[in-house]
Amino acid sequence: MILMEKGATKEQIKDVVDEIKKHGLRADVLQGDFLTIIGLIGDERKISFSNLALMPGVKEVIAVEIPYKLISRDYSKQFIAKEKSRIVKVGDVLIGGDEPVIMAGPCAVESKEQIFRIAKEVKAAGAKILRGGIYKPRSSVHSFQGLGSRGEAEAREALQWLRAAGHQYGMPVMTEVRGEAQTELVAEYVDIMQIGARNMYDQDLLSRVGKTGKPVLLKRHFGASVEEFLSFSEYIIAEGNKDVILCERGIVPVGKGNSYTRYILDLGAVPVIKNETYLPIIVDPSHAAGRRDLIFDLSCAAIAGGAHGLVIETHYNPKEAIVDAKQMITPDELKDVIDASLRISRIVNDYRKKSS
Ligand code: PEP
Ligand code: MN
Repeated sequence: MILMEKGATKEQIKDVVDEIKKHGLRADVLQGDFLTIIGLIGDERKISFSNLALMPGVKEVIAVEIPYKLISRDYSKQFIAKEKSRIVKVGDVLIGGDEPVIMAGPCAVESKEQIFRIAKEVKAAGAKILRGGIYKPRSSVHSFQGLGSRGEAEAREALQWLRAAGHQYGMPVMTEVRGEAQTELVAEYVDIMQIGARNMYDQDLLSRVGKTGKPVLLKRHFGASVEEFLSFSEYIIAEGNKDVILCERGIVPVGKGNSYTRYILDLGAVPVIKNETYLPIIVDPSHAAGRRDLIFDLSCAAIAGGAHGLVIETHYNPKEAIVDAKQMITPDELKDVIDASLRISRIVNDYRKKSS
């Protein structure tokens, strides 16, 4: 991390960036009103820190000893206060501020009628972003893989429905990109590119999606530590795309016997992540629990714990859903979750402000 002098000129900043590039590294320039910080991206052994420190305009070269530097609080503290997160703007929706943002929709887009009806009903319940899977990651090759897996024409058609439904009801839309080859097609139609838990470790997919410049929702792998989760998110940031929203969605249960939930929702990760990075963090109680009767309680707990939002699978008739029927709630139930979330966040934010 290179801290420039307060009066450093544009030329001096450019010279430092050029010097970094000359050594085969990339530079992340954080420019504030008075201060500029330059982060190195790549293998740092290729460059001499002492030479950089001697360049005109350079105040200090500081080693950040963690695997996720560019999203770390250390690196960003001159620009974003410790108790604040980055605001990711998606259309008119602001993710990362005081008010939690609720994303909702079916697990999978199954038909035009289905996605339009769900869009209408989740909007009326107070949802701000419409979700719906078109390429579904499934454990069995024999189960429904999403309309996208039937071919490009079907994928395009489903993406058009999703976008049109979002447009009609005034919500930006989000869908999962399951593989690199789908990236550009999905980017044509959606506002948020979702990278699913199973693909959190796919650094090529992360970079490719990052390059589209679209906001990205990155879900935590169910076996990943928080450190790994944050480190992999940095592959997106390294592409110059800072609009990353993190999502905790449960980790694998431990011990013998039944855990009664699909995964273990790691709510401790929420305040930890807010402490470590400025990226907003939301929670997915649907995949974590795998049960609709737990969604209200887990959502309230997540918001009380400081989550910037929730993503909740919702369907007007959950039993009808081909995928994840057991964990879907109805739009009426979603409305209660949203009302409670907004009230809880106001209460806990007042306390947080008092103590900061
Ligand atoms: C999803 O959100 O549709 C999904 C498959 O979730 P995850 O990647 O967290 O399993
Ligand atoms: Mn699902």
